[in-house]
Amino acid sequence: MENISVESICIHSGTSNANGTSGVNTPIYASSSFHYRDTQENIYPRYFNTINQNAIVEKLCALEGTEDGLVMSSGMAAISTTLLSLLKPSDHAVFFNEIYGGTYNLVISEFSKLGIEYTFVDLNQPGALENAIKENTKLIYVESPSNPLLTIVDIKAIARTAKDRNLLTVIDNTFASPINQNPVRLGIDVVVHSGTKYLGGHSDLCFGAILTTKILKESILKSALNFGGSINALDSYLIERSLKTLALRVERQSENAQLIAEFLERTSKVKKVYYPGLPTHENHAVAKEQMKGFGGMLSFEIASSNLQEVNRFLDNLQLIQPALSLGGVETIICSPVLTSHIKVPKEERERVGITDGLLRLSVGAENVKDLIVDLKQALEKL
Ligand SMILES: *Cc1c(COP(=O)(O)O)cnc(C)c1O
Repeated sequence: MENISVESICIHSGTSNANGTSGVNTPIYASSSFHYRDTQENIYPRYFNTINQNAIVEKLCALEGTEDGLVMSSGMAAISTTLLSLLKPSDHAVFFNEIYGGTYNLVISEFSKLGIEYTFVDLNQPGALENAIKENTKLIYVESPSNPLLTIVDIKAIARTAKDRNLLTVIDNTFASPINQNPVRLGIDVVVHSGTKYLGGHSDLCFGAILTTKILKESILKSALNFGGSINALDSYLIERSLKTLALRVERQSENAQLIAEFLERTSKVKKVYYPGLPTHENHAVAKEQMKGFGGMLSFEIASSNLQEVNRFLDNLQLIQPALSLGGVETIICSPVLTSHIKVPKEERERVGITDGLLRLSVGAENVKDLIVDLKQALEKL
C-alpha cells in the first residue's frame, strides 16, 4: 500500500508468516540451528538473519525510510559496531560534543588504542564543523535532541556539509524515535538507536538498531559478525510486539511532554525549561523544520539549587518515579548531576547549563492531568 501511515506501519510491516502458520503474528523461532539444505543462505542468530530479527528490521526500515539494517543486543552494540566498522586506523571523526555518555566513553577509551583520531565540537557554533574537518576526516557523528539539555542540531545542514566533502554521517536518533524524526530523509547515511528506550518502550528490554542503505549495511555486517552483538528470538518477539504500539505511545508521550513543558514554564518555582516544542527553546525553529513531534523528553531547573532540596522534591512526587533510563510508558525523573554527569567537574557542567537544580523528565503515556497534579503538589512544597 502506498503512503501508508506510521501507525499502520508499526502494526503491519515486517510480520512474517514464513512457515505458513495461520496466526496473525510472527511465530517465535527459538532456534540457533537451521536446516542448511532448505534455504539458499545459512540462518544463524549471530548472522543477524533469523526470521524474528528480520521482522523487526523490516518494520524499523519502513518507519525510518531506510533500505536495510541490523538489530543488535544493545544501543552501545549498535553504536560501537557502526563506528568500528566504518573507521580504520589513522581515520579522523568529528563528534558533536553533547553526545550520550556511553558513546563519549567509547570514543575516549577505545579510539586511541585503535589509532583513530577524533574531535568533539559544538555543532551550533557557526563554522565549527568546517574548522574541525581535516584531510583524513571520514565521518561526522551527531545526536539530536541531545541529553540532557535537548539541544537540536541542524541535521540537513550537517548532512549537506558532509556530502560536499564525501564524508559519512551517523546520527543517534534515540531521543526523537522514528515517529518524530527520520534523519535519512534529511540526508544522513546511518541511523542508530538505543531500542532500550522508545522502541522497546516498557523498560524491560535492552537492544539497539542500525538502519541504513543496503551497501553500508553489508559493510557494517562484516564487522558485526566478528563483534557478535546479536539478539535472541524471545527478545526479538517482545521487540516486534512493542513496536506495534510505538506510534501510539510516542504520539501520546510527545503531547504530554508539550503540556508539561508549558505548565512548568508558567510556574514560578521553575527557573528554566528545556523542551524543543517551546517557542522559547533556543533551536525551536530548526526543531520545527526537522521533527514531526518534539518527543517525550524534557529538562527543567527548579528554583532551588540545593541538592537536599532537589532530593526532597523527588521524595514528594507520588506518581513520577526517580529512576534511570528513559522512553518507557511510565514517567520517570532523574537528576543528571547525581547520575549521568556525576563524574563531570562542577564548573564544566555548570558552564553548559547542567546545574544542581536540573531535572530530566522522561514523560510517559499516563493521563497528563495526573502528571501535572503530581508535579504541582511537589513544586508547591519547595
Ligand atoms: C541509552 C542510550 C544509548 C545506549 O543504549 P544502550 O541500549 O543502553 O546500550 C545510546 N544513546 C542514547 C541517546 C541513549 O539514551
